[in-house]
Amino acid sequence: MTSYDYDLFVIGGGSGGVRAARIAAGYGARVAIAEEYRYGGTCVIRGCVPKKLLVYASRFHGEFVDAQGFGWTLGGASFDWAALIANKDKEIARLEAAYRSNLDRAGVQTFATRAVLTGPDSVRLVAEGRVVRAKTILIATGGQPNIDAKLPGREHAITSNEAFHLAALPRRIAIAGGGYIAVEFAGIFAGLGAETTLVYRGDKILRGFDEDLREDLMVALPRRGVRLAMGRTFKTIERRADGTLSAALSDGGRLDVDQVMFAIGRSPNTAGLGLDAAGVTTGPGGAIAVDARSATNVVNIYAVGDVTDRVNLTPVAIREGHAFADSVFGGKPWAASYDMIPTAVFSEPEIGTVGLGEADARAAHGELDIYKARFRPMKFTLAGRDEKMLMKLVVARGTGRVVGCHVLGPDAGEIVQMAAIAMRMGATKADFDATMALHPSAAEELVTMRTPWVAG
Ligand code: FAD
Repeated sequence: MTSYDYDLFVIGGGSGGVRAARIAAGYGARVAIAEEYRYGGTCVIRGCVPKKLLVYASRFHGEFVDAQGFGWTLGGASFDWAALIANKDKEIARLEAAYRSNLDRAGVQTFATRAVLTGPDSVRLVAEGRVVRAKTILIATGGQPNIDAKLPGREHAITSNEAFHLAALPRRIAIAGGGYIAVEFAGIFAGLGAETTLVYRGDKILRGFDEDLREDLMVALPRRGVRLAMGRTFKTIERRADGTLSAALSDGGRLDVDQVMFAIGRSPNTAGLGLDAAGVTTGPGGAIAVDARSATNVVNIYAVGDVTDRVNLTPVAIREGHAFADSVFGGKPWAASYDMIPTAVFSEPEIGTVGLGEADARAAHGELDIYKARFRPMKFTLAGRDEKMLMKLVVARGTGRVVGCHVLGPDAGEIVQMAAIAMRMGATKADFDATMALHPSAAEELVTMRTPWVAG
């Protein structure tokens, strides 16, 4: 009879892996987990959490400007990048320790090492130079940022990984990409005072988002100090003798900057993981192919989170990890639902969105009613800020159901999280209308839009 060291071995101590390990251990399974960098994974160490802290820091600048309209005179405000990064690092270290102690408390054995598969039920702990055996293996190794592999001078560019640890705030930065990470970092650096240029090969940022959100944000970003260079890519990056960078762009233009950051997408962390030795198959881009139960083609090997490239968000990885552990170790089978996942872009102004954009909703539901309001939020009136908020509801005409809710403006993420509950429950436009407004707020617009919008 085969003897196993563990019932479950988890590779990767990020959002999905940690949740799965803790829940499985709670059912009495003998669980171990290996993390090659820092417990907490991308989200806690170099993703959502530190990013949001930097977003908070960057927004004070606009607040200081707006405060003057409310009668405030502020003395010379100054910003200290080193202090921000030190305080951020302290908070991240606190969270990392909490992750580790939660694993300890749950009875999970933790290893600080890279782990690679050596067979369908065996894992090499690289730092310890030994192999352990487990009845079930969960791969939760996440993803990593891409840099254009053929770009001459690519070694001079940073990614989000390094952006969190720069020794100094760059005076000028160029960011490549048009997805949410690129847009968020553009807002961070611009808000903190860097001359910021967003370089994107397409003509519009945030592919996949509702068109109105994309267009309105492209109007707002330059007013918040982000220069947009659309329809362009990087050709070369050179380092000058004075340490600054000179980047040639595809349109013949040149950017002289102190940093170039690439945020052009992420790839699943599967290289050198021993997938061949275990017989695990991958799909497009190297993502591990799984079914709705997060099961791979190998009967005892599962995978959750970004390494499977389904919906690459922390709450999704956590749900997938939890569902896996309940199903395999708790006798309570269920699968994560991908319906109505709310998400935010912490740009300035912010985006919150849930459900389908107008074009996708039309393809899925046919006839639609669109409700749309653009208005200056009350706070911006005295502030004298020329920036509009957008609220948009996409309603399936046949059923009256609200199938998309899109907000651009202050607190958009917070607003949309709440709307998502109602929408998941099948709320109709009539339900929104019957809900009393909370006055005065921006969110009340979502329950007071009476007339479908007609293109002018
Ligand atoms: P990860 O959290 O990436 O964890 C994988 C872990 O596995 C890592 O710690 C890695 O070191 C480890 N590992 C890899 N290979 C091995 C190995 N062979 N052996 C041992 N350990 C290994 N999501 C949101 O929901 N909201 C946001 O606002 C948001 N912002 C983001 C901002 C940035 C800059 C980035 C990069 C991501 C952001 N995300 C956000 C996405 C989110 O971080 C991921 O979706 C989430 O972390 C995925 O969790 P995971 O468990 O799949 O992988």
